[in-house]
Amino acid sequence: MGPSGMRGDGFDPSSAPPFKISDIRAAIPKHCWVKNVARSLGYVVWDLSVCSVMGRLAVVYLSGWMSVLWPVYWFAQGTMFWALFVLGHDCGHGSFSDHPWLNNVVGHLLHTIILVPYHGWRLSHKTHHNNHGHVENDESWVPLTEEVYNSLETSTRFLRFVLPFPMFAFPLYLWERSPGKEGSHFNPYSKLFSAKDRVDVTISTLCWFTMASLLIYLCSACGTSTVLKLYGIPIWSIFVMWLDTVTYLHHHGHHEKLPWYRGKEWSYLRGGLTTIPHYHLVEATRASKSVMGKYYREPTKCVGPIPFHLIKQLVSSLRQDHFVSNTGDVVFYQSDPHFHKS
Ligand SMILES: [Zn+2]
Repeated sequence: MGPSGMRGDGFDPSSAPPFKISDIRAAIPKHCWVKNVARSLGYVVWDLSVCSVMGRLAVVYLSGWMSVLWPVYWFAQGTMFWALFVLGHDCGHGSFSDHPWLNNVVGHLLHTIILVPYHGWRLSHKTHHNNHGHVENDESWVPLTEEVYNSLETSTRFLRFVLPFPMFAFPLYLWERSPGKEGSHFNPYSKLFSAKDRVDVTISTLCWFTMASLLIYLCSACGTSTVLKLYGIPIWSIFVMWLDTVTYLHHHGHHEKLPWYRGKEWSYLRGGLTTIPHYHLVEATRASKSVMGKYYREPTKCVGPIPFHLIKQLVSSLRQDHFVSNTGDVVFYQSDPHFHKS
């Protein structure tokens, strides 16, 4: 597929879809939209219990740095932190329950535990959903234009496409957003937020600093290496990697490249779709496929619980997806043919 996006079978994934968002909504069974407070809370209790039991087992049975089981613990605990994040994401979208106060309380609890400022991230995430796939206005993983790409130092390109540093950059993104964009998720006066959001953002930032202070206290009480082993490593290496990998792939596609839009070519439907409680997503997705046809994109999955197929997609995308054209209302990622030779 060239930069135009036309595939061998004549289908152009960047062409305007023949269906409306209301058609997709109509195809999704009614019960998928229903939020069940008890069920949502059940997931919270279950996930928090699993996290604490695993932490407790690690304290009791693993000592020093030498146990071969530490990487197993880090992977499992980091994945559970990702599960907490997903539940907090539901809260942020209001798909956790119909009670805004409950969504906010639970969202703060879950996201503060994993050092995400709840309202700050929720609000910028809303900007992302409202602009998904827009070259300039999307909030995360916006593509580099060819001009910006050419201006990058070789070391920056290495960091971005080879290491790959962006897969671990979420904490940095929270502090100062993506390269080329200004504002911090912690600053209520940041460009990310409007005046009416300031109190909310302040509350979440205070929660974040409370958690950070607790961690500093635990470092002095139990030792920095204990806090790193039980919490720091699974958060930084596994949870952040999950988050960045999933969001990266949402913005880059897999065997087919995703189109990016500018100006009038962008529309809410072409840029992204809707949100439903996570426990109904599989069924809702299945129902929406019949309407979306070839516009529905899903990688071929590998067998087993660990999604190794995503790693393959990620590596090949990092090798190939370097920049988009400086101009044009519908653009696709292109490769720098010299990059891997230099
Ligand atoms: Zn979302």
